[in-house]
Amino acid sequence: KSAFADVKLVIPAEIFHLTKLYQEDKHEKKVNLGVGAYRTEDNKPLVLPIVKKCEFEVVNDLTLNHEYLPMSGNPDFIKVATELLLGSDCKALQEKRVAAVQTVSGTSACRLAADFLAKRLKRRAVFFPDPTWENHGEIFKHAGFKQFKNYAYWHKKRRQIDMSKLLVDLASATEGSVVLLHGSAHNPTGMDLTKKQWKQVAEVIKCNNLFPIIDTAYQGFATGDPDRDAWAIRYFANQGIELMAAQSFSKNMGLYNERVGSLVTIIKDPKLVPALISEQMLYVRPNYSNPPAFGSRVVAKVLGDKKNKEEWLKTLREMTDRVKTMRKELLQKLQKLNTPGRWDHIVKQRGMFSFTGLNEQQVARLIKEKHIYLTRTGRINICGLNTKNIDYVAESICQIVK
Ligand code: PLP
Repeated sequence: KSAFADVKLVIPAEIFHLTKLYQEDKHEKKVNLGVGAYRTEDNKPLVLPIVKKCEFEVVNDLTLNHEYLPMSGNPDFIKVATELLLGSDCKALQEKRVAAVQTVSGTSACRLAADFLAKRLKRRAVFFPDPTWENHGEIFKHAGFKQFKNYAYWHKKRRQIDMSKLLVDLASATEGSVVLLHGSAHNPTGMDLTKKQWKQVAEVIKCNNLFPIIDTAYQGFATGDPDRDAWAIRYFANQGIELMAAQSFSKNMGLYNERVGSLVTIIKDPKLVPALISEQMLYVRPNYSNPPAFGSRVVAKVLGDKKNKEEWLKTLREMTDRVKTMRKELLQKLQKLNTPGRWDHIVKQRGMFSFTGLNEQQVARLIKEKHIYLTRTGRINICGLNTKNIDYVAESICQIVK
């Protein structure tokens, strides 16, 4: 008997499965609103021009080689990435209270954070927003967390953040619990806290001595301005709150498959920074040993040069502007068609996603009858919309909800 005789075919992660179904679909009007990746007006993936230029420079730089990076990553990358996240005038940076290590994008930044908190700091309970990115639970489970709790986030009926319940839920968290927050462009709802609400959350975190992880997978994708999108993390840092942040360049530089990101830990005592990094390496070494170099070199070039960075910011604004336009148009079209229900949340939401409020049956019908692919939670990737398919999508939604 084979050692693998019990192996069963499991349902693949929904998002990858949706992409496969979409690719296999032969219908001429098919639309992919599933996977969280930017698409141009022509429904093509975008290689940002400045990223392409820097890639060429890296490839043609004959001084570079393929030697291993240090376990903690490429120092040039870490410097610019951390400044992008925290701002170069950040007090914690100036006081050298920031421990930053390069990771295999945002996913492994979350995993390293979870590993360290569970195994080294013996944290057992983690609070996620309801809903959250579907991978968070698995990541924290594999790291050894034992108690998984939700705090209220999305109010289904009102289609907005349920702030009063959110605060009650966090206030009930026992001391030392880990709280996962989304820095900007919350996935999947697209609803972010206001500054006033962030301040309230910071207050509860301080009062209850909770430990925040700020997952920052979409810096710049909410407003088009990475500084504005980093307001919450910078506020927390200035409040003297110790925290971890998982940073990703998948979305804001379109470097998805290059796996570029970092785990940034802000602590009270600068003397502990070298020790903390050295201990974090105890979890990196048996996991992936050291991170990949190429993407980190590209990001270092984009952010390390003023002109390059300006060009990146310009493209980022163009990307977010296109998303905002698509949001407005989708709302207008749904309203013009007299689609039953309220839809104005579509323009209040930010980033790639809109949590439409469509239920599971409606989603199943959109996929089966209309060849429009979206997750069963009713989340759509607004980037998948363009002037050629938006009428079809609006009409299809209207027909399904009627
Ligand atoms: N965190 C959130 C909330 C995400 O939506 C994603 C990607 O979809 C990630 C983290 C991780 O992405 P990556 O590993 O490509 O950086």
